Amino acid sequence: MIPQRIYAWTVSKVDSPRGLTSLQEDEALFRDSVYEFADHEIRPHVREMDQQAHIPRQLIDKLFDLGVMAIEIPDAEGGAGASFFHAVLAVEALSRVDPAIGVLVDVQNTLVVNAMMRWGSDAIKRRYLRSLAERTVGAYALSEAGSGSDAFALTTRAVETPDAYVLNGRKLWITNGEEAGLFIVFATINPDAGYRGITAFVIDRDLPGFTVGKKEDKLGIRASSTCELLMEDCRVPRANVLGEIGMGYKVAIETLNEGRIGIGAQMIGLAQGALDHTIAYTRERRQFGKAIADFQGVQFQIARAATELEAARLMVYNAARLRDAGEPFMKEAAMCKLFASEIAERVASLAVNLFGGYGFVKDYPVEKLYRDAKIGQIYEGTSNLQLQTIAKQILTS
Ligand SMILES: Cc1cc2nc3c(=O)[nH]c(=O)nc-3n(C[C@H](O)[C@H](O)[C@H](O)COP(=O)(O)OP(=O)(O)OC[C@H]3O[C@@H](n4cnc5c(N)ncnc54)[C@H](O)[C@@H]3O)c2cc1C
Repeated sequence: MIPQRIYAWTVSKVDSPRGLTSLQEDEALFRDSVYEFADHEIRPHVREMDQQAHIPRQLIDKLFDLGVMAIEIPDAEGGAGASFFHAVLAVEALSRVDPAIGVLVDVQNTLVVNAMMRWGSDAIKRRYLRSLAERTVGAYALSEAGSGSDAFALTTRAVETPDAYVLNGRKLWITNGEEAGLFIVFATINPDAGYRGITAFVIDRDLPGFTVGKKEDKLGIRASSTCELLMEDCRVPRANVLGEIGMGYKVAIETLNEGRIGIGAQMIGLAQGALDHTIAYTRERRQFGKAIADFQGVQFQIARAATELEAARLMVYNAARLRDAGEPFMKEAAMCKLFASEIAERVASLAVNLFGGYGFVKDYPVEKLYRDAKIGQIYEGTSNLQLQTIAKQILTS
């Protein structure tokens, strides 16, 4: 007879997942079809989009058709009815080809759709979810000129009137600003109340008093738009408050915790893209009478990059799985963004090195990935702010 303890151990071994990065069949199919789309529909335009700092609307429409702009929105509302983990897979697969498209899809899903589904009233959901699933790009506006890391020092003011909140202020660095039809904007209803005055509002692009201003000319992810927003006596209907009055800080903290996993996914996708190019190039490029991939020095550099990428992927997938399982994930999200963004920069830098002079020019794809990698350590909380979150979690718990 098998003793009870050994029997229990045997059962749990049989039930355990195959591998930490193993995907369910539907997840693998989804990731592969998104990558195939990116390879065929995005790759031929990457360089031109980067040069022109623009994403054509036709490509955005194809992303809607593919179903990656509303991954967690239920079927009944026109979305894919899938999980947060699927969103992470989509952002990774797209970023492997172009991290600028990766972040468009990332902001739409992990910040905008996520906040609307979690905090939106029934009326907000009825009014906006279907349109987010079918045609409307969303943007998420927290940062201002004077408040970045110290996000809750924001000064955009919302004044209450009987039928509306009147917003005045200026937002900076807003991803998707050029393409978005809908903006989640954070403002304070009471500057004296500190973070407890912060409130989130849903603003339609055509609302009087709301203007999309200057677009930034950037180092990397150039095709992704980054814009200032101006609000001048912009009357936002009371029904467009997202979540509760004075609870915007909670909306921001909780969505950004999840958003960070999406940026981790963007960064592992970018690193995979850089590694793909490096492997192909080093097998082809010949020096000293053989392929440079035949030199052990080069092999070891590639092996290290692949190992670091694998570690980053494990961290990103784990954080996403924890989130879907309803388990705590704040520390893991901060860790995965911190690490994945460092790895992305390292792998992209190695790619430039191994392409030699060809890595330094725009005729080859890796200099762009090197430029694109830098943003991972800046937005949705800089690396120092991730370290602050991690330290707080491990030192005060
Ligand atoms: C391309 C791009 C897209 C963006 N998209 C969006 C968007 O869609 N929505 C949005 O709301 N914002 C967006 N942002 C803004 C982004 O989130 C901020 O730039 C970021 O949070 C950093 O803020 P900051 O630029 O004001 O830098 P600062 O906060 O001024 O930081 C400057 C430096 O000081 C360090 N630092 C600051 N405080 C501390 C501290 N307490 N301890 C240690 N070090 C510290 C930082 O780590 C950093 O190195 C975007 C930015 C860029 C560049």
